[in-house]
Amino acid sequence: MRRWKKLIYVDICNTIADVNAEIEKILGPRPVPEEYFHPLVTDGFFLKHPEVFIDAAPFPGAAQSLHRLIKDLNSDIVYISARPEWAKKITISWLKENGFPDGDLILSTDKAAVAKDLYVSMAIEDAPFEIEKLKAAGIQVIVKSQPYNKKYGPRFLWPGEKQRSGRFFCSYEVK
Ligand SMILES: [Mg+2]
Repeated sequence: MRRWKKLIYVDICNTIADVNAEIEKILGPRPVPEEYFHPLVTDGFFLKHPEVFIDAAPFPGAAQSLHRLIKDLNSDIVYISARPEWAKKITISWLKENGFPDGDLILSTDKAAVAKDLYVSMAIEDAPFEIEKLKAAGIQVIVKSQPYNKKYGPRFLWPGEKQRSGRFFCSYEVK
């Protein structure tokens, strides 16, 4: 890991990849969008449906915004995800195919601990329980706007998303 640059933590599922849309194609819409978990996602769901990770659309403008961000902040990215180990190759390919900046991919169920060990300068995350843990670890978090994380902030939308009520990345042009 190159440590002479600052490091930005980027989450994958529902921060840069619209995994929930793929889950909902299979299981139907979440009955309560303000709740993080789809009630029908059971153990083994993702192993049975790896296409959820493979087919997830990148949020429009996310890759371009991250390229711009790391250039502006002279930083590197580390992708930190709670995806299972079997999904590592799929995820690396997905990042590359969708034009995301190069960066190590670390899979862990204790993402805040990894972030702390790496001294990340900030985290981009959507999941309420991860946001809580990161904040408790003293890490600055920028929140990808989702229906279930309204009480956290600062929140933003990627520049190509429909609503333009967020901030931070929205000033970035999509190239
Ligand atoms: Mg996520």
